[in-house]
Amino acid sequence: MKRYLVGFLLGIAAAVLGIAVANLVMAPGTGPQLLPERSQGSELPPPKTTRRSAYFPGTEELEPDEMRVVSCGSGMPSARPKQAAACWLVELGNGDKFLFDIGAGSHERIAAQRIPYDDLDKVFIGHLHVDHYGDLGAFWLGGTTMNRLTPLRVWGPSGQEEKYGTRYALERLKEAYVWDIATRSGVIDSRGMVLEINEFDYTKPGLIVYEENGVVIRSIPAIHGIDGAVSYILEWNGLKFAYSSDTFPNKWWIEYAQGADIAIHECLLTPILLVEKQGFTPYEALVVGTLGHTSPQQFGKVMSATQPRLAVAYHFYNDFDTAPTMLADIRKTYDGPVALALDYMVFNLTKDDLLVRMSVIDEEVWPSPPQREKERPQGRLTPMSDFVSSGREIYPMTLRRVWAEVNARYGTDLRPGKVAKELMGSAEDAEEAKEAKREN
Ligand SMILES: [Zn+2]
Ligand SMILES: [Zn+2]
Repeated sequence: MKRYLVGFLLGIAAAVLGIAVANLVMAPGTGPQLLPERSQGSELPPPKTTRRSAYFPGTEELEPDEMRVVSCGSGMPSARPKQAAACWLVELGNGDKFLFDIGAGSHERIAAQRIPYDDLDKVFIGHLHVDHYGDLGAFWLGGTTMNRLTPLRVWGPSGQEEKYGTRYALERLKEAYVWDIATRSGVIDSRGMVLEINEFDYTKPGLIVYEENGVVIRSIPAIHGIDGAVSYILEWNGLKFAYSSDTFPNKWWIEYAQGADIAIHECLLTPILLVEKQGFTPYEALVVGTLGHTSPQQFGKVMSATQPRLAVAYHFYNDFDTAPTMLADIRKTYDGPVALALDYMVFNLTKDDLLVRMSVIDEEVWPSPPQREKERPQGRLTPMSDFVSSGREIYPMTLRRVWAEVNARYGTDLRPGKVAKELMGSAEDAEEAKEAKREN
C-alpha cells in the first residue's frame, strides 16, 4: 500500500516534470518537436497497451507471455552521470531474469530496479572491455550486502589464448577481492560470495550456452578488438531478444538476429561527432568509429538486413544535440522502427504489442529483503595484528548497552566478548594463524 502510494506520488511528479521533457525529440532539421505521448524512442509504432506513461520499477507485474527489457547502461567507456556503460536487463513473464553485460556504472541502475538479488544471479558478458564488465566485482560482492544468498553465475567467451578468456579474467577477479572476502567471512551469510564461471567456445556460431525453463540463449561470434567477443540471442515463448554487445557489422548477427522482436546493436557516435565533440582526430574517428565499431550509417545497413520489430541503437552519448544527427545518419540506410537508447529506457514486448517508456527512479532505494532465511556464518575472521588491534577504544559500557538494546528487541542473547571470541578464535588459534602466515 505504502509502495503504491509512493509510486502514485512519483507518478504525479513525473507527469509534471518528466513526460513533457521525455517527449521532446529532435527531428532532423526541424528543431524540437513533440511526439505523441509514450512514443519516447524515435519513430516508434503506437502501443496498444493502456499502461501508464512512465515505468515505476517494482510496481508492475509482467503478463505470463511478456518480456521486459531495461537499459541499465547505454553509454560508453568514458564515465558520465547520465549514461552508465553497457548493461541490459531482460525479465520474462516466467519470472526469469538475465543481465547482458555489466559495464562500469551500471550497478546502481540495476539496484534501481528494486529486484531481489537472488533473482539476479545470471550475467552474460559479451567481451572483456571495462565498459562491458567493469561493475561485475561491485555487483558480485556488493550483491552480498544487498542480500543475495545464491551464487552469482557468469557466462562469457573463451579467447584465442587462455589468458584472453573469461575464466582467466574472473579467476583473477576472485584473487583481486581476497581482502574484501576475508573481511566478510564469518560476519555475514557468505552463500552469495560464490562466483560460478561458465566459459564457452567463442568460435561456434549459434552455440547454445544456456537452456533452462524454456529459455534458450545462443552465442555468436562478434568482430571487435581481438578474438573472443560475442553477441547473444535469447529466445523464449516465441520472442527473440538480440544483443550485439560490441561488434563490427557481421554475417552471424544478420543470420541469427534475423527478425528479432528487439535487436539492440551498438551504434557509435558519427565520425564527425567523434571529432567535434570528443576530440578525436579524423584518423582516430574513422578507424574507431567505422572499423572497430559500427557507425550509425552501418547500423542502419545492419538493421535493414536484420528486419527486427524494433531496432535499438546504443553505445553513444545520447543528448539533445547528438540524437538528431545520429537519427539522420541511421535514416540514410534504414527506415524501420528504431529507438535511441538512454539509461532507464524500458521496453515491454508481447507477440502483438510493443511499448517503449522511460522509468521513474527512486533515488533512495534500499536493498530488497533477503529471499531466504539467513544462516549464521561458519567461517572466522582473519585475525588483525596486535598493532592495529591495540588502537581500539572499547567503550565497554556503551557497547554493552547497544547489545542489550538489540537483545531486548529481538529476543537474542548475544554477548560482545563471546561473539568476538567465536569470530577471532582463541588466542592460541590466533597465534597459530600468525605462525602459519610467517611461514608462508
Ligand atoms: Zn568493447
Ligand atoms: Zn563497448
